[in-house]
Amino acid sequence: MSRYQVIARRWRPKSFNEVVGQRHVVNTLKSAIERGKIAHAYLFSGPRGVGKTSMARILAKALNCEKGPTPEPCCECENCREIERGIFVDVIEMDAASNRGIDEIRELRESVRYAPTKGRYKVYIIDEVHMLTEQAFNALLKTLEEPPSHVVFVFATTEYRKIPQTILSRCIRFDFKPLTEDEAVEILSNICDAEGVEYEEAALRAIARAASGSLRDAEMFLEQVIAYTGGKIKGDAVYEALGLVEEEALENFLKALVERDVEPALHIFHKRVVERGYDVAGFVQSLLEFIGERLKKQALSGDTADAVKLYTFFKTFLELSEKVKRHPFPDMLVEAEIIRLTALPPLEDIKVLLDVLEGKARSVSSSFEKKEEKREAVGEGRAKPASYGADADALADAVSRRDKPLSLLLKEADVRFKDGAVVISPGKLGEVSWGKLREKEDVIKEQADALGLDVKFENSVKKAPVVRNIREEAAENPVVREILSVFDNALIVDVKKRGEI
Ligand SMILES: [Zn+2]
Repeated sequence: MSRYQVIARRWRPKSFNEVVGQRHVVNTLKSAIERGKIAHAYLFSGPRGVGKTSMARILAKALNCEKGPTPEPCCECENCREIERGIFVDVIEMDAASNRGIDEIRELRESVRYAPTKGRYKVYIIDEVHMLTEQAFNALLKTLEEPPSHVVFVFATTEYRKIPQTILSRCIRFDFKPLTEDEAVEILSNICDAEGVEYEEAALRAIARAASGSLRDAEMFLEQVIAYTGGKIKGDAVYEALGLVEEEALENFLKALVERDVEPALHIFHKRVVERGYDVAGFVQSLLEFIGERLKKQALSGDTADAVKLYTFFKTFLELSEKVKRHPFPDMLVEAEIIRLTALPPLEDIKVLLDVLEGKARSVSSSFEKKEEKREAVGEGRAKPASYGADADALADAVSRRDKPLSLLLKEADVRFKDGAVVISPGKLGEVSWGKLREKEDVIKEQADALGLDVKFENSVKKAPVVRNIREEAAENPVVREILSVFDNALIVDVKKRGEI
């Protein structure tokens, strides 16, 4: 037996008071025992390694202690000690993962009928109960429908949704929560104190994080670290013993990705993971947890621009985390991903994109101005010529504030100043886009009105190109054209109508 099992067994909570965390379960069970309101079936649901079976054994003790039933079992009487050692005749533990069939449940139904031999209650603890076959569940249901008064079932499961509703409705369900980091650190430091092991709190915290909420894993990791360090638990040793990459390295790795700096990202991956012979999947998992935490912080602080970037990385490494587990050369996959991420065009968030578009809208407005100045020089422009540029700018701005897509259409149209009015004609717009602009001419008129400008629409200064299909229509759409010009190397890959997306 490894020392870890010794530690886990030695430090398994023996009474409700020794349980760290799961207070909601402890308090409800204790009060039920105090009031003598014992149910016939409990369902302990929650992730693996959070103390469901330990809790079931404590409940069995509370019911069968010679001084009970009591919320504070003595842990010293013969019954308590036998339950603790797993040899008490009236506490029957069964693993449904390996005994999932009808025969086992039939046997169970037989034995349920007989009164307890030594204790007050026969307690059946069925672990991983969701693994039972449908037939077995049906047989179990018959017992649950008319349970003998001396029987208590405790079902433990990691996936209660797989349990039939008919069974669920006959159980009192308790949801066990993953341990918090503080709870895990409390348990680990208690164990270290009692075992005479020196430790740094930061090191225990690293173990707690690696265990991500599982007490069983935390104890196993503690055991590994004790074996590795010979009894003095320090930060570096924890990372080395558990094959974990230090938080600082994760931080620098992420920074290199954000800054699209390929060399440090590859260097960190090589030095901290590949050269040390660490598990690549473990590294990707740590990275995911690290990015996930960062993402939560930024989303909560309202920093959405950075959160958008981090989310892209999170999604990438989430997909990668599955692939690296199956691939014969996982380090190559990670390297390829590092290169891809750092070589991609910069991630532009929506705001930056809009800023760029707005900047372009202004430069187009000022080109109206230049055009007009030329026309003025050759005697084309009349009335308000000096202020025309400013007015066109103001109109473009006003329309843009009101209706961004419309302002982009307007930019591609031909806008001239004639006989004291702004004259708008299709210009570069095709038939469809021009139609869209005309649908919203009221918006343009309304904005022009507010600026003291008259607006006229002229339909066919130039013959609009015939739009043959949605692909061509998309290609000549001003918004699409803008996007193509903002991103280098952008291509139209596919065009779909809105409803088909
Ligand atoms: Zn006792």
